[in-house]
Amino acid sequence: MNEPQRTCAILAIGDELILGQKTDTNSAWIADRMTQRSARVVEHVTVDDDERAIAGAMRRLAGGADVIVCTGGLGPTADDLTRRSLAQAMGDALVEDEGSVEQIRSWFAGRGREMPEANRVQALRPSRGRSLPNPNGTAPGLAGRIEVDGRGCEVFCLPGPPREMRPMFETQVEPVLAFEGGRVVRTRMLHTFGLGESEVARRLGELMARDRDPLVGTTATRGVVTCRVRSQASPSEAEAFRGLDESERLICERLGDVVFARDGNAEAPLESVVLGLLRGRGERVVVAESCTGGLLGEMLTRLAGSSDVFLGGWLTYCNEMKRVQLGVPEDLLSEFGAVSKPVALAMAHGALRAAQTAGGADHALAITGVAGPGGGSEGKPVGSVWIARASGDGTDDARLFRFGGGRSAVRQWSAVTALGMLRLRLDGVRTPLLGQIEPAQDD
Ligand code: ATP
Repeated sequence: MNEPQRTCAILAIGDELILGQKTDTNSAWIADRMTQRSARVVEHVTVDDDERAIAGAMRRLAGGADVIVCTGGLGPTADDLTRRSLAQAMGDALVEDEGSVEQIRSWFAGRGREMPEANRVQALRPSRGRSLPNPNGTAPGLAGRIEVDGRGCEVFCLPGPPREMRPMFETQVEPVLAFEGGRVVRTRMLHTFGLGESEVARRLGELMARDRDPLVGTTATRGVVTCRVRSQASPSEAEAFRGLDESERLICERLGDVVFARDGNAEAPLESVVLGLLRGRGERVVVAESCTGGLLGEMLTRLAGSSDVFLGGWLTYCNEMKRVQLGVPEDLLSEFGAVSKPVALAMAHGALRAAQTAGGADHALAITGVAGPGGGSEGKPVGSVWIARASGDGTDDARLFRFGGGRSAVRQWSAVTALGMLRLRLDGVRTPLLGQIEPAQDD
């Protein structure tokens, strides 16, 4: 027998969230994790630092959800009211948790300090609730149960800072949900790069109908369009998996080579796939950047452990640096200009050459473009970017893109597209990419 799917509400607490001074990333992260864990997220609520407002929100949400996850308001100051609000919503009193006092004390002791008396308040918990240890900060989390009309709702209160909240969620909340949660919701992710989100949706067609099971949705993050496939209504696990397999097959059929990863790293899928492909082949890459000013290098080093495949690069912003550091011939610069195919290719080949003194690289990526807002011309309007790849086997590829959206967007798109070009090469795929206006070179 399948258990019914658990419903979950998320409560973000804090004046700074209400006032728009801080973006609520906690709720999005928790919702995603909850969904992966088979819970159905039914509501997100944000309230300010007000005891009645927090307790009121908790009781209202408890009327319609099996689980509430709250974040924020567990600090030691007068505006940290989550503990009192939870006790109020539970109809309970606060008591001091001895274990928590000791944990807070030893957290300070580990930093050579005595626990300030003000922090003692963080060890309070509802008498019928429990404290959740926090190895990354002073605020213990709380767990309790709110009864509304004879129906119980589990409440978890976690600290606001993401670096404290996330590990606590993973170690204290997820195991409980995994144990008690519904069994039949399963999700898959397919990451694509090279098509816009609307084109992906057009190709997927009726697969994205809202009443379909599995349900297919898309999200776009920094050029990567991710298709999420979620099966929730199937009567058995086996059927749910069959439904997912079939949807995945249809998505791959309709999107083809732009699909570069299934599931995998949700936060940096393209980076992780490119690094993995290079690692698998025992190959290394270098970069030569102009208008992106280091963004491509930043992407390649975003994930830990990239040093085995990423050697480094050159930040050659002005022509002189392109000439001196990468050996780009003066006559190419004067004849074609810095934003041109010959210069992009010369930068890539120059980087490959220069890398020989550092043990040699197998691929080089080069970016040169007009990020704007100034510097555009009729032939090279703002957003024109040449991206080139050169590889140790003598092949190369240079493509012209036209990106929109202002300086920051042009730079971001350029960096991520260069990574996309390398992925095409490593996977042996030949396809135009989003924004490309000049065909790929034969290699
Ligand atoms: P602390 O013990 O650090 O005070 P806390 O549980 O009291 O933790 P808050 O004081 O509410 O948490 O927030 C601390 C910090 O956590 C905020 O300044 C903010 O940077 C971050 N934070 C709080 N809520 C969120 C949220 N929903 N999303 C992202 N960051 C958040």
